[in-house]
Amino acid sequence: MNDWQTTIGLEIHVQLLTNSKIFSSSSTAYGSKPNRQASYVDVGMPGTLPVLNKSVIKKAIEFGLAINGSISKKSIFARKNYFYPDLPKNYQISQLDLPIVEGGFITIEGDKGILKKINITRAHLEEDAGKSIHSEQNNCTYIDLNRAGTPLLEIVSEPEISSALEAVQYMKKIHSIVTFLQICDGNMQEGSFRCDANVSINKKGDKQLGTRTELKNINSFKFVEKAINYEIRRQIDIVEEGSKVIQETRLYDEEKDITKSMRSKEEANDYRYFPDPDLLPIEIDSDYITQIKSDLPDLPDVKEKYYRTEYNLTDEQLNIILNKPSFIKIVDEILDISKIDPIKIINYFISSLYPKINKDNFSLDENPYLPKSFCETIDAIENGLIPKHSLKKIIDEIFLNKDSVSEILQKYSSEEHDDDLIDQTISDIIENNKKQVDEYKSGKTKILGFFVGQVLKNIKGVNPSIVKDKIIKALNSV
Ligand code: ADP
Ligand code: MG
Repeated sequence: MNDWQTTIGLEIHVQLLTNSKIFSSSSTAYGSKPNRQASYVDVGMPGTLPVLNKSVIKKAIEFGLAINGSISKKSIFARKNYFYPDLPKNYQISQLDLPIVEGGFITIEGDKGILKKINITRAHLEEDAGKSIHSEQNNCTYIDLNRAGTPLLEIVSEPEISSALEAVQYMKKIHSIVTFLQICDGNMQEGSFRCDANVSINKKGDKQLGTRTELKNINSFKFVEKAINYEIRRQIDIVEEGSKVIQETRLYDEEKDITKSMRSKEEANDYRYFPDPDLLPIEIDSDYITQIKSDLPDLPDVKEKYYRTEYNLTDEQLNIILNKPSFIKIVDEILDISKIDPIKIINYFISSLYPKINKDNFSLDENPYLPKSFCETIDAIENGLIPKHSLKKIIDEIFLNKDSVSEILQKYSSEEHDDDLIDQTISDIIENNKKQVDEYKSGKTKILGFFVGQVLKNIKGVNPSIVKDKIIKALNSV
C-alpha cells in the first residue's frame, strides 16, 4: 500500500439559500408534497421561458470573493443535454465556459497537521434536477419535480487532495464558509450540501495521474471518508493484480460500505453543451462586486487570529463565536464596549446571551442596543449592584423591552438590597459562631470566607461582595 499515492478532486454541490428557484418563482422549501412546488418552467412546458433569480448571482459572488477567486464580468449559461426521467426539459441549465467564479483557494489542515492550500478550479451556477423515487412495493418509479430548478453552486477543486481525511477537511471548510456566509443552510441530510469525489491512484513520485473514478452524491462527512478509503483500496487491488482501473461513475452503498459501478464516465462532449439561447449572458459591473466585497464579513479564519492575538479567547469560546456572522458582530461590539477582562465577558456572553440569539434568523438590527445593554448589566453584576443569578431574567427583559436597560437594572438592584434581611442574618450568624468570631478577632481574617458562606447559604442569590462588606463592619463592631 505504501507504494501508492492518492489523488482526489471534489465537486461540491451547494444548494443556494433562496426563497424561489433559479429560473422560476416556485418555492424552494424542503419537504412539501410531491410536485406541489413545480411550475410550468420547472416541468419544462414548451413555450415557457426561464427568468434568472438575481439573488443567486449575489450569493455566487460572495462565495467567489470569500475564496479569493476571480468573478467573471461576463458569464453564460449553457445547456447540458441528457435524457433522464427527472429532467423534463432533457437538458440541465448549467455553466461550462465562462463560469461565474474562476480560481481561488482555501486552506485546510493537511494530513501531517501542516496547513495546506487547495486550489479551486471554478464555481458555477446550475439548476438541480428532480428526484426519481423507486417503489419496490408498487414496482414503479415516481417522479417528484419539487427539486427541479433549485439553485446550485457547484464548486470544483483541483486534484490536489491526497487522502480521505484531507477530503473531509476540505469539505468541512467549504461547508463552514457557505454556512457562515449564509448562502446555504448546510443541511446535508436534506441534500443541501453534497459532493462527488473523484479518486485515482498512481505510483509514488509519478507525475502522471492515474485513471479516476467518480463517486456520486455523497451527503455526509463520514461517508465521504469511508467511500474514498474503500475506493483507494479497490483501485490498488486492481492495479496490483495487473488490471486497469476503468474511468466510470460509481455509487457508494452505505450499508455494505462499498462502491458500485453505476455507468461509464461521460465526457463533456457527450452532453453537447451549447449556450442557452433563452438566457442572456450575465454581465456584472465592478461597482456591484465592490459593493458586495465591502459588505462581506471577515471569514472565521481571519477573525480567529484576531481574537486570539488581541483578546486571548479560548478554543472553546472561539468554537461558539465563529459559527455565525451575527455572533461575531455582537461579540465585536461587546469587546469594544466592555472594560472587564475579555475572557470573563465572553464567558458571560456564552452563558447568558448566546442561548437567546442562537436561533436561525436573529439579527442585531432587531435590537441594536443589545451589546451596550448587556455590558451595562455585566458591569452592574461585577460591581455588586445586582446578583449574578438575576442575569438570565434581566436578559429576557432586555429582549422584551428593547431600550431601557437602566430601568430594568434598577428593578433588580432594589430587589437585591433587602438590607434588613442581610443584617439580621449576619447578626444571627455572629451570635451562633462565637469561636469563629474570636478567631477573626485574633487576626485570622481568612475566616471571613466562612461567614460569607453562611450568609449565602441562608439567602439564595445574594451578592457576595455586599455581604462581605457588611460582615467586616459587623465583626469590627462586635
Ligand atoms: P467532470 O465534469 O467530467 O467530472 P472535470 O475534469 O471538471 O470533470 O473534473 C472533475 C473533478 O475531477 C475535479 O475536481 C478534478 O480535480 C478531479 N480530477 C480530475 N482528474 C483527476 C484524477 N486523475 N484523479 C482524481 N481527481 C481528478
Ligand atoms: Mg463531475
